[in-house]
Amino acid sequence: MHSSPVILAVDDTPQNLDIIVELLSEFDVRDVVDGRSALEMVNKQPIDLILLDIMMPEMDGYEVCKILKANPKTKHIPVIFITANTDDLAIQKAYDVGASDYISKPVKPQELLARVNTQLKLQALIASLEDMAFHDSLTGILNRRKFFELGSNLFNDTDQIAAVMIDIDKFKRINDSFGHAVGDEVIRRFAHVVSETLPPGVLFGRLGGEEFALLCEHFSEEGVSVWIDSLRKQIESLDLIKNGHKIDFTISNGIAIKETQMENLDDLLNLADEALYEAKNSGRNKTVLISERTRKVT
Ligand code: GH3
Ligand code: MG
Ligand code: MG
Repeated sequence: MHSSPVILAVDDTPQNLDIIVELLSEFDVRDVVDGRSALEMVNKQPIDLILLDIMMPEMDGYEVCKILKANPKTKHIPVIFITANTDDLAIQKAYDVGASDYISKPVKPQELLARVNTQLKLQALIASLEDMAFHDSLTGILNRRKFFELGSNLFNDTDQIAAVMIDIDKFKRINDSFGHAVGDEVIRRFAHVVSETLPPGVLFGRLGGEEFALLCEHFSEEGVSVWIDSLRKQIESLDLIKNGHKIDFTISNGIAIKETQMENLDDLLNLADEALYEAKNSGRNKTVLISERTRKVT
């Protein structure tokens, strides 16, 4: 979450907005006077919480909330309704359309602050839990589960896509010679080197132990092989010294290009795995590409 949470207040009565902005002066508050402007704003910038009036002309708060909750980009933003109408049905409807909470008008300052803080804390907690659930704790890159989730979407949306399987060579020997902690350091170092030069939109995940995968869309065969093979050389030329001994640190890479008959991400990754197997068998510290047209070893 951002250093200062951004709150969007929506009310057709400007005086009500003035009061909210004043009461929430410790936060970064944006205010708009109708639902349409609110929807525009949430699509333009990150918003952490929305305070939403129910009764507004043209589009009421319920309608705005329904639209927010139907959009995958905005459904996570908590909505607190601010309403003069607190009969059972009105409140029931607020929760039905996805409200996280409600505050009755006229607004009581302590209550507003308390409810806003509660929602912001919950949001921060969810964000940190998601961060842990999606990322590998050793390297900080995507974990296997998240890589497959995002990767499957990418596979289904794109025809031109390349997969790369990367495995550290003779990694067991590094562990055996230098200890598990140094092994961990090597894994972290590898993830760091790749992350530093990762083009935007490329998925990079740790699939297990010392095995990693990349998924790149809109890359030419030539483009991926040149990039991945230069990565191989970069890793090979790292000078990692421990206790006066150089660590032999190299990687093998298998690249596969999506083919028309492939049905899912597994098909593509299996082919990349086949290429990786070939790279290992042809002596390690190699890049092998398999596509419909080519079988290339560098
Ligand atoms: P190859 O060149 O055929 O890939 O040989 P390798 O030794 O790299 O492959 P192998 O699969 O035999 O051994 C991988 C080792 O990686 C075994 C396992 O103990 C170790 N390993 C798996 N996860 C971790 C980890 O998180 N940290 C460390 N330090 N070692 C790990
Ligand atoms: Mg109103
Ligand atoms: Mg290995």
